[in-house]
Amino acid sequence: MTRRVLAIGVVAVIAASVALAGGDAGRPLLVTVDDLPMGAGRLHSDPAERARITSDLLAVLAKHRVGAVGFVVWGNVRGAADEALLARWLDDGHELGNHTKGHLDLSRTAADAWIADAEAGRAGLQGFLDRHSRTVRFFRFPFLREGDTPEKLDAVRAYLDRSGQRNVPVTIDDQDWSYEEAWVNARRAGDAAALARVADDYQLALRTEVLTQTELGDELFERAVPQVLLLHANEVGAAQWEALFTWLEGRGFRFAGADEVMSDAAITAPHRFVAGPGGSLWFRLRRERGSEKAREQVTALLRDQAAAWSRGDLEAFCAAYADDAVFVSPSGITRGRQAVLDRYRARYTDPAAMGTLTLEPLDVREAWGAEASVLGDALPSRTHGISVAARWTLVKADGSSATGLTLIVFHRRAGAWVIVHDASM
Ligand SMILES: [Zn+2]
Repeated sequence: MTRRVLAIGVVAVIAASVALAGGDAGRPLLVTVDDLPMGAGRLHSDPAERARITSDLLAVLAKHRVGAVGFVVWGNVRGAADEALLARWLDDGHELGNHTKGHLDLSRTAADAWIADAEAGRAGLQGFLDRHSRTVRFFRFPFLREGDTPEKLDAVRAYLDRSGQRNVPVTIDDQDWSYEEAWVNARRAGDAAALARVADDYQLALRTEVLTQTELGDELFERAVPQVLLLHANEVGAAQWEALFTWLEGRGFRFAGADEVMSDAAITAPHRFVAGPGGSLWFRLRRERGSEKAREQVTALLRDQAAAWSRGDLEAFCAAYADDAVFVSPSGITRGRQAVLDRYRARYTDPAAMGTLTLEPLDVREAWGAEASVLGDALPSRTHGISVAARWTLVKADGSSATGLTLIVFHRRAGAWVIVHDASM
């Protein structure tokens, strides 16, 4: 996280002065805390330090009456001292969920090996919870990665279903963990100025992400939707949660329990977002919905284009082409919308004789990738381009017909889809 990036963040926080109040009762916010027993555990090998950080985290949660879900990496539970830390979370009324045993990245691991690790985490945690008469209900994907292929997505979802675990999605993915090392180094060096800088960065980054995701979630569902905040059990959190929670309350958030938030239709909105990177539920839904919309728009455009042809309106037919469109046919290459229009006009001098055109899409593919968020994190991009393989069929007034294939490539320019390539044969 650089200072430059955060300068952009300042602008975003100021710009996003949207009203966030979710009514008198407040907007429900579920706090989730990942990587228990201790985030960045290699920085905190001293059991006394782990105990102190845990006490500080639990004190802030209690002060603000937060009922959190903590997600345990069972492979990081090093014996009785760490189990005692987990027991303190339970004693304070928080719930513990499964965050796998080895925190494996699903995008880099075969499904069966990943599922075996997730199950080892569940079984380990359940063994501990048995002694407290509790059950593992919730699951959190390491790195928020839910499957980079449809097969993996289906396999891990089937595993979660049959083992009785529910994925708790994250809507506010704020990278809070990335401040821990800088915070711990500054604290150990006794560098007050550095601590203050990390604190400023942490608060600014998290608040920016809260505002961004709140706006996005409301936009997707056209109502004030609950949010799920991702935090980590770490030392910077122990120092910064108090200011963060106070600010959240001031913005109209109400700390809510898992059962309330996990029953909201926005949080349980189904998706089949397949990608290597993880991230906010809202970004997944925005990506999927954007994809549907882009496909509908392009299909409608092709329909309009065929209708324009069928009424003999070559001008309207060619309006779909970009200024610099390239038209490829067996007779050669035509460059530019005007040249494409001139070519058609030369071939079809009698509009009434142009016939009726239909364009039947056979295969539609989208081009999209990653965009940078205001904080510099990767997030799924909007659809940048669409290619359509289609069959064209032309039926003349005398009943004769012709048919062939075409490959049409659309780009989005100035908010509208235009044809940049058309290869008809
Ligand atoms: Zn994690």
